[in-house]
Amino acid sequence: MNNNIIRCTRCILPENYPDIDLDSRGVCRVCREFDARYLNIDWAAREKKLARMLDRYRGKGSSKYDCLVPYSGGKDSTYSLWLLKQKYGMNPLAFNVDNGFADAGAQIFIKKCTDRLGIDLYTYSPPGEFLNRVYAHAMHKTGEFCTACVVLIPTAIFRTADIHGIRLIAGGFSEMTEAPPPEYANMDRVRFWNIMKSGFSRKELEWDFFFPSWKRMFRIKYFNLPDYIKWELPEINATLSKELGFEKKVSDIRYDCLATPHSNFLFRRIAGFSKLEFLYANMVRAGYFDRQEALKILEEREPDGVPDGFFEFMNGIGCDRSILEQTEGRSTFDFSSRRRSIRKLAIRIRNILP
Ligand SMILES: [Zn+2]
Repeated sequence: MNNNIIRCTRCILPENYPDIDLDSRGVCRVCREFDARYLNIDWAAREKKLARMLDRYRGKGSSKYDCLVPYSGGKDSTYSLWLLKQKYGMNPLAFNVDNGFADAGAQIFIKKCTDRLGIDLYTYSPPGEFLNRVYAHAMHKTGEFCTACVVLIPTAIFRTADIHGIRLIAGGFSEMTEAPPPEYANMDRVRFWNIMKSGFSRKELEWDFFFPSWKRMFRIKYFNLPDYIKWELPEINATLSKELGFEKKVSDIRYDCLATPHSNFLFRRIAGFSKLEFLYANMVRAGYFDRQEALKILEEREPDGVPDGFFEFMNGIGCDRSILEQTEGRSTFDFSSRRRSIRKLAIRIRNILP
């Protein structure tokens, strides 16, 4: 980690973060936007709205399940399952995608938790050989491989809801603590196809990477619980450790995919700042922990240069030792995406579903 870099005096975002715009007190644009967005929320009203929405789905429809919860084993999705089952009396289906790099501990915890909550668990895991081909192709074309999961996971979630006739997906994604910079949340299926089409037929990728028809998609509502309930991480952690034997600390951001150190390194190579920097900045801003503590953790977790085991990992997905030279200067931005207006419209339509 570079210690000479100028950072926001409130969170820890570095000066080379997109449009950082530090003010006279050295506070960044993202911190100012955070205050405007989150300080005056009427959480009681939001929670009432959530309760009304869940009433419309509980016990309705032909599915065995009232909703689907994407389940990674991390604190946010575990708490979402617990809330929906214990507090709101829903019958959720827990759905987990194993991309081949799942932490073995996470998989054990997932099974233990769904057992204890009395919730059905589905795990979807496409063959490693196929996924590695997708990762390697993305890596060669764009200098990163996370692209594949960014598209695979939401597709699998919607497919599974559709297959089971589930009309509601309840995510635990917290915009406040998890959101990447919008400038780098740029993957859609048009861009994905433009990246992949030189190595795959559409048919090979159709099921796992492309949504069913728009008509089917718009029958399913997606929402995130942290948009309706005040997401207090210390309290959430305490509840989960008491109720479900959750052992992670607040500072353990999420159950890491084993590819995370490598994908972080590649992201930093392209963006010039790291995923951990913006994730910990989010946590500091939200008041979950101290700025100094975040900087210390960042220093420990963010190696300078290529992380240990990087070339072995690359070799495992089918890329050789010259991969960094081969992909110098490449990024997903080299490929064109769907028009922004169309994306926004699709999101708006899903939001107005009852
Ligand atoms: Zn800031």
